[in-house]
Amino acid sequence: MRPGYLGDLESFIDSSKFEYLEPNSLQEACSILARYKEKAKVIAGGTELIPLIQQGKARPDCLINLKSVPNLQFVEAYSDFGEEGIKIGSGATLFDLGRSAIINEKAAVLAEAINQREFRLNRSRWAYYMATIGGCLFSPERAADIAPALMVLNAKAVRQGIQGWETMSMQDLFTADSKGGVYEILGEIRIPKQQESEVGLAYEKGPAIGDGSSIGVAVFLRLDLKHVDVEEIRIVVGGIGNAPIESREGPAIMTGNPIDDHLIIDAADMAAEEVCGASDSETMERTRELIEEAIRHAIDRSIGDFALGY
Ligand SMILES: Cc1cc2nc3c(=O)[nH]c(=O)nc-3n(C[C@H](O)[C@H](O)[C@H](O)COP(=O)(O)OP(=O)(O)OC[C@H]3O[C@@H](n4cnc5c(N)ncnc54)[C@H](O)[C@@H]3O)c2cc1C
Repeated sequence: MRPGYLGDLESFIDSSKFEYLEPNSLQEACSILARYKEKAKVIAGGTELIPLIQQGKARPDCLINLKSVPNLQFVEAYSDFGEEGIKIGSGATLFDLGRSAIINEKAAVLAEAINQREFRLNRSRWAYYMATIGGCLFSPERAADIAPALMVLNAKAVRQGIQGWETMSMQDLFTADSKGGVYEILGEIRIPKQQESEVGLAYEKGPAIGDGSSIGVAVFLRLDLKHVDVEEIRIVVGGIGNAPIESREGPAIMTGNPIDDHLIIDAADMAAEEVCGASDSETMERTRELIEEAIRHAIDRSIGDFALGY
């Protein structure tokens, strides 16, 4: 087991009171979960769970290490039943993804979210090497970076349960989890092939406000062939609440209309109000700025070489 910032996992396990299991498959891991119910926890990179156990905030009777499950760390192209894209094993680390050629080429907004400045700081660099994409999506901080980028890419989550596999949208993954889907384990993420021309994707992240988490905004934007009208726009904000929030009102005023400076500002205003709800004015203003920045950035990318600097 690789020693990291958290120390050697083996000595942590030796000094702990829980049962420690290393299943050989996700199905076996699910059966163990079903047996122990809420008393068991799966562990992947351990960057969140180990500190929680050390602080006494999590007290599992049984820890199921997913690192023993073979082939959970892949990042590869797929083509199934006429659908193409990229599939990512839930055990792939942020380091695996950040340096993956296929992610940087075909899902650059995910690489952008992973490689944002916070993960480059020495303070959190170790988390970048150890944290897995599966752990990111099930940790309270999941809303911050990875999930918004996956949502604008229309990614799907494939979960293993005792009965078999189930594919669901990212939104459903969060809802199912909050309802207590404790016997299911995320096996892989599927990102469908993206249309490339006229499409712009961008990710913007701001520093944390006070003791709160930092806010991250992912935007998908598709223009018409003349680069005048917005055909589709999606805005997803992470870091406010426990799960990312997709704005409906911001996109509604831009869709079908020509790109216009006032419209961008209005869309950012409306989206920030919608996703921030009862947040304080500083959070609202910071979110508004990030949304506006991300929309402008996505427009530049969708126009490509003809960017006019809106
Ligand atoms: C110093 C530091 C800086 C950080 N900075 C950022 C940041 O800038 N942006 C950001 O987004 N996050 C950040 N994080 C959060 C970090 O991303 C999480 O700690 C990490 O995502 C957890 O991943 P893990 O593989 O270590 O999960 P673990 O700690 O192993 O598990 C976390 C949770 O996920 C569950 N879990 C793990 N894998 C699966 C699976 N396959 N199926 C179902 N449940 C599963 C576990 O049961 C547990 O509840 C930071 C963390 C640290 C410690």
